[in-house]
Amino acid sequence: MTKRYIVLLVAIASTFLSSTFRNSDKQPDKSPYKTKYAVVLVIDGPRYTETYGDQSCKYIPRLGKELIHEGVFYADFKNNGPTYTNAGHTAITTGVYQRISNAGKELPKNPSFFQYYLKETGNDKSTAWLVSSKGKLEILANTKSKKWWNTYMPSTYCGSKGNSADYVGDLQTFNKVLEVISYHKPKVMLINFLAVDATAHQNEWEEYLQSIQQSDEFAFQVWQAIQSDPEMKDRTALFITNDHGRHLDGRKDGFVNHGDSCVGCRKISLLAIGPDFKRDTIVQTPGELIDISATIAELMGFSMPTTKGRVLKEMFN
Ligand SMILES: [Zn+2]
Ligand SMILES: [Zn+2]
Repeated sequence: MTKRYIVLLVAIASTFLSSTFRNSDKQPDKSPYKTKYAVVLVIDGPRYTETYGDQSCKYIPRLGKELIHEGVFYADFKNNGPTYTNAGHTAITTGVYQRISNAGKELPKNPSFFQYYLKETGNDKSTAWLVSSKGKLEILANTKSKKWWNTYMPSTYCGSKGNSADYVGDLQTFNKVLEVISYHKPKVMLINFLAVDATAHQNEWEEYLQSIQQSDEFAFQVWQAIQSDPEMKDRTALFITNDHGRHLDGRKDGFVNHGDSCVGCRKISLLAIGPDFKRDTIVQTPGELIDISATIAELMGFSMPTTKGRVLKEMFN
């Protein structure tokens, strides 16, 4: 074979390979934004008075004193629907508040941002990830909606060995998150850490505070991992939020539980960091859980007609 033929063959092969690669990892082209990856990190159930509501931010030094300067903080952010785990997370992923079984026995009524993203881009499911310490959150991968049921579902890791009946510690979840970031570069991802909620339900005040500090460190390390990744660095929007708060002191059993509409249960936090967001900015405009999906859809350039949330435009550059 002559040199010229070899050169020609290599050229044909590389064209073929690069177009195959593009097809397996399509980006919607209509997005005017720098954001190409969106990650939602949910710290399950801290009360605002122990996080940003404490002026010294002593239990959340990473978020409250460091990362807050890199992004936008919503001073008035709420769960305006049912304030328990599966309902709060469903509001985040579908953009619709609904009463839903908290035992993991019921799928959300509406499709999630995972499903809309995968359908519209045609991307492989390895580009969308649900990584959760709470096994019952496996429900977030699917929907009851007839047209969408069992379709366009993300990759999941919910509980140990992917067994959704089990709960795993946050360290195991954190390690899985690092693995997913380094191997899959997830375009859309949701992470759940459970320790804050679990220790509070056990009425362990000191452990509850320690869990808030541990989650603060995990959130910081997740951002470091994203910013250390050559592909995700400076192209990722990270939303750090909660599914619900907890009762205020004097309300029922106080920090131990949650689930009603008291200020303590409703008031949560959102800190958003990304290439299209302002830096070191505190926004006073109210925002709420259902707005996260609408904002991700806008940034990533896909449509999400069923979300009832609004795009959090005031935090954009
Ligand atoms: Zn709980
Ligand atoms: Zn309450």
